[in-house]
Amino acid sequence: MSTKRDYYEILGVAKTASQDEIKKAYRKVAMQFHPDRNPGNKDAEEKFKEAAESYEVLSDPDKRAQYDRFGHAGVGGRGGGHGSGHMNMDDIFSNFGDIFGEDIFGSFFGGGGGRSGGGGRRSRGTRGSNLRVKIKLTFEEIAKGASKKIKVKKYVTCNTCSGLGAKDKNAFQSCTTCHGSGQVRKVTQTFLGQMQTVTTCPTCNGEGQIITNKCTSCKGEGRQYGEETVSIDIPAGVMEGMQLSMSGKGNAGERGGAPGDLLILVEEEPHPELQRDGLNVAFDLHISFPEAAFGISVEVPTIDGKAKIKVPPGTQSGKIFRLKGKGFPSVNSYEKGDQLIHVNVWTPQTLTADEKTMLEKMQHSGNFKPNPEKSDKGFFEKVKDIFS
Ligand SMILES: [Zn+2]
Ligand SMILES: [Zn+2]
Repeated sequence: MSTKRDYYEILGVAKTASQDEIKKAYRKVAMQFHPDRNPGNKDAEEKFKEAAESYEVLSDPDKRAQYDRFGHAGVGGRGGGHGSGHMNMDDIFSNFGDIFGEDIFGSFFGGGGGRSGGGGRRSRGTRGSNLRVKIKLTFEEIAKGASKKIKVKKYVTCNTCSGLGAKDKNAFQSCTTCHGSGQVRKVTQTFLGQMQTVTTCPTCNGEGQIITNKCTSCKGEGRQYGEETVSIDIPAGVMEGMQLSMSGKGNAGERGGAPGDLLILVEEEPHPELQRDGLNVAFDLHISFPEAAFGISVEVPTIDGKAKIKVPPGTQSGKIFRLKGKGFPSVNSYEKGDQLIHVNVWTPQTLTADEKTMLEKMQHSGNFKPNPEKSDKGFFEKVKDIFS
């Protein structure tokens, strides 16, 4: 056991000092030897602890009386029992509150609230980057919305160290560049005079601590390249080129940093028969001339299965039928598009001798003469009607 120095001597006060004098003296000594001002200086750290121990005894009238009578042996408890200056650092810092006024403490130690307090601007790890994936969806999936499970190759949190990057909790050491604050102050000369800037500590990336014993699985990164199956809920009505974002599903951060986002780019798989036009769906229906003349009931594909429509007798080529509400839902409103069925009457391109004779017979019948009524709007009016 080393010989202990006298508490009064440590604080530099007389044996008759008042409580106020003791407090002031401790403040002075503690600031002088504070670890943040003496990085890596073991001697200063010992002196700092010594001062804290002295103050703990001398600030308490009972303990002080004991010490005055019996010396170090009289105050066994913390001071003597644990050997010289082995007060827990956290205890010392937690006692600071009553010694230093908030303002002094704050400005002196760079804000926060000491090391044990959660404050300060130290950040944990480095945020993971965003990840971009493409997802191909059929018209049917877009119409109803879809739940997709996709395997994403990305950085995932290291299982061995749970993202800490260290072997265990004791494998950390306060950063010597910033003394644990995570920030460094730089004074630069500008034409306006001296300017002080505070930047993230480059040594520890603002974490305030450095890993002394790295996790061997992830080499201290806290993450590993791997794979994760992500469930993606795609809302109904998305469109080609839209980007969905799932927060926190991107690359894991380094050493426990926040993960990035997963950005999902929507691609539409072309439909063999239907075309998309915003919320509407377009379908080209081809019927024969007799079908157009007699009328016909046909099945047409929709994004929600088949639908039967009636083409009335005498339907003209170019007629557009509208299936209300059979289009795509809007992704951000209750609006719904329609399906537009565009009728094309097929004109035969080759004719047998028989067919020729039959058509020649009909050619001069008055019914076969084009006679558009006023209600049979021209193509451009129809288009205007539908898309206005
Ligand atoms: Zn690890
Ligand atoms: Zn640092």
